[in-house]
Amino acid sequence: MVSESPVLIALGGNALILQGERGYIEEQFKHTDACMKPIAGLISQGLHPVITHGNGPIVGNILLRNECARDYIPPMPLYICVADSQGGIGAMMAESLNNELKKAGIHKTVSVIITHVLVDKNDAAFIEPTKPIGPYYSENDAQMYMKKGWHMLEIKGRGWRRVVPSPKPERIVEIDAIKTALEKGIIPIASGGGGIPVIEENGMLKGVDAVIDKDLSASLLACNLSLKKFVILTDVDGVYLNWGTEARQKINKLGIKEARRYLLEGHFLPGSMGPKIEAAIGFLESGGEEVIISRPEDLLDAIEGRAGTGIMRSWNK
Ligand code: ADP
Ligand code: MG
Repeated sequence: MVSESPVLIALGGNALILQGERGYIEEQFKHTDACMKPIAGLISQGLHPVITHGNGPIVGNILLRNECARDYIPPMPLYICVADSQGGIGAMMAESLNNELKKAGIHKTVSVIITHVLVDKNDAAFIEPTKPIGPYYSENDAQMYMKKGWHMLEIKGRGWRRVVPSPKPERIVEIDAIKTALEKGIIPIASGGGGIPVIEENGMLKGVDAVIDKDLSASLLACNLSLKKFVILTDVDGVYLNWGTEARQKINKLGIKEARRYLLEGHFLPGSMGPKIEAAIGFLESGGEEVIISRPEDLLDAIEGRAGTGIMRSWNK
C-alpha cells in the first residue's frame, strides 16, 4: 500500500519521443500510455499525483515546424512554442490518463494547467546563453538570425544551433490554481517544459525566450505544494556512478551529502542527470523527504524501494 499524501511525478520529455524516433503521434501516444498506466496503478492504490513533464524533443519539433513554414506563416517566439508544447503534451497525457483511470474504474478529473514561471531578468544566464535548442542551421541562416539578435553556436561538423538562456525558476505564477485543484481531488498536469518563462517589468509579466530546466521547476513545484515525495521518471533505470564508463555502477540509495559530493566529482552530467540531482538536493533541503529516480515502467517497484534510485533526507550520508 502506498502513502496517501500527494506525490509529484515529473516525466522526462525524452521518455515521450525516444532517441532515433521521428515523433509520430502514434509513437508519442504509445509512450504516453506506457507512462500513464503505472501512474493509474498508483492512483488505484490510493496515491494522489501532481504531474509535470519535460518537452525537449517536442519543442525541438515545434521550432523546426516554425522554421520550415517561416515564408508562409509568421514564426512564433520560443516562449509561445513552450506554451504550445504544454497544451499538446498535456492533452495527450490527459487523454491517456483518463482512459487508464476509466479501465481501472476510478472517477477522477485530470486537468492541464497552462503554467508561467517567473525568472529574474538579471539572472546571469541572460548574459551568456548556454542551452542549445531546435534544429541545425546553415552558416547563412545562422548569420541572418544573429543579425536579428539570436545567439548561435557552431557545432563542428554539424552546423549552427541556437542557444538560449536557462535561468533559474523563481515563482510559479499559477501556483494557487494548482493547489486548489489538488485540494479538490483533481489531478493537475502543470508546469510542463519547465514552465512558460516570464520576467517582471514595471510590475507586468512579459514572456522571454529562454528554457527553464524542467527538473528545477518540478523541484520548486514540489516545495511550493509542501509535498514529501518527488518522483523523476526518465529513460534510464537509475542513477549511476562513473556513468559512460565500463566501471559504471548503479546507486540504489543515496544521501544528500553523498549526492553533493558525487555531483562535484562529475558523476552526473550537466544538462541531463546533473539538474535532476540538483533538483533532488534542493527539494530535500526544503523539507522534502524522498526523491526517486527511475524509468516509467519500474514506477510501481521504485515507489516501494525495489527499483530505481532513492535519495533520502533521513539517509544521513
Ligand atoms: P529527461 O528527458 O528525462 O530529462 P535527460 O536526457 O535529460 O532526460 O536525462 C537522462 C539521461 O541522463 C540518461 O539517458 C543518461 O544518458 C544521462 N546521464 C548522465 N549522467 C548519468 C548518471 N550518472 N547516471 C544515469 N544517467 C546519466
Ligand atoms: Mg532533461
